[in-house]
Amino acid sequence: MSIVVVSTGGTIASTADGGGDATVSLSGEDLVSAVPELESVADVEVREFSNVPSQFLTLEHCYDLLEVVREYDADPSVDGVVVTQGTNTMEESSYFVDLCYDGDTPVVFTGAMRNPSLPSPDGPMNLLASARVATDDRAGEMGVLVAFGERIHTARDVSKFHTMSTDTFRSPEFGPLGTVDEDRVVWRRWPENPDPTLDPDRDALRRDVETVTVTMDMTDTQLRAARESAGLVLGTMGAGHVPERIIDGLRAVREADVPVFATHRGSEGRLLRDRYGYPGSEHLLQELDCYYSDLNLQKTRVKAIVALAADALGEAFERP
Ligand code: ASP
Repeated sequence: MSIVVVSTGGTIASTADGGGDATVSLSGEDLVSAVPELESVADVEVREFSNVPSQFLTLEHCYDLLEVVREYDADPSVDGVVVTQGTNTMEESSYFVDLCYDGDTPVVFTGAMRNPSLPSPDGPMNLLASARVATDDRAGEMGVLVAFGERIHTARDVSKFHTMSTDTFRSPEFGPLGTVDEDRVVWRRWPENPDPTLDPDRDALRRDVETVTVTMDMTDTQLRAARESAGLVLGTMGAGHVPERIIDGLRAVREADVPVFATHRGSEGRLLRDRYGYPGSEHLLQELDCYYSDLNLQKTRVKAIVALAADALGEAFERP
């Protein structure tokens, strides 16, 4: 078997300086050579994509990463791709690639919470586990994956939950697809992926899709600013509700012809369609022709940006 490790930076590639502050310093070659056990899993080629903390990654980086993945998918000598990256934006970049990739070569994102200068760094084990997943013969049917802390998640469902724990990645509501037990990949679920594959134009990727989380007695300042944006992702309360005092602000966004993508500020569940009748209920979202999303705020933004750049809003989102 043969895999390519595409390294982008992050904690997995960070080491501490004299003062103890970690910065990104290790190359993909360094990461791979620190895990000799990889030799028993696959021949490993390394592609140095970038060496940055993941909060430095941009939409254009995500697109270029997609192109790299597509390139290896077209190469029959490559059986799998592992992307190493910082955890902070892994749920966004992996989902970006997932939305746009329709190949069957497995693609697995991983990283670390403890950098290699700390006791018990988790990067080497995560890299090894990801290589096992990337060479598993069923992985290519699962969409883009995130393998972290022995668990295997879909890029669509996974989110980073804990600021420091190595057990930070969770797939709320439906759970991970499987695990890596020692050297065995164990699948327990099959992903039902309702997303169509989208083909965005790189030059049409718009950063100015804004996100607003709805909070108790908030002002509508952010909503008014969003009238100038390419889209607004709204993390509503409960199952699609907003306070009465921001209704006019929300109307103004729609009157400016800005698409609104409604999700909720919780971690599980979907938006209601027809249960409450007070002002600011789910009926307002429908009256304003908002798109409905069942993803979290940051993933909804990725999907909205990709769908706008693919001119495929109607295909990507439901508008009940
Ligand atoms: N700051 C890091 C990053 O996202 C955190 C991590 O890798 O876990 O690049």
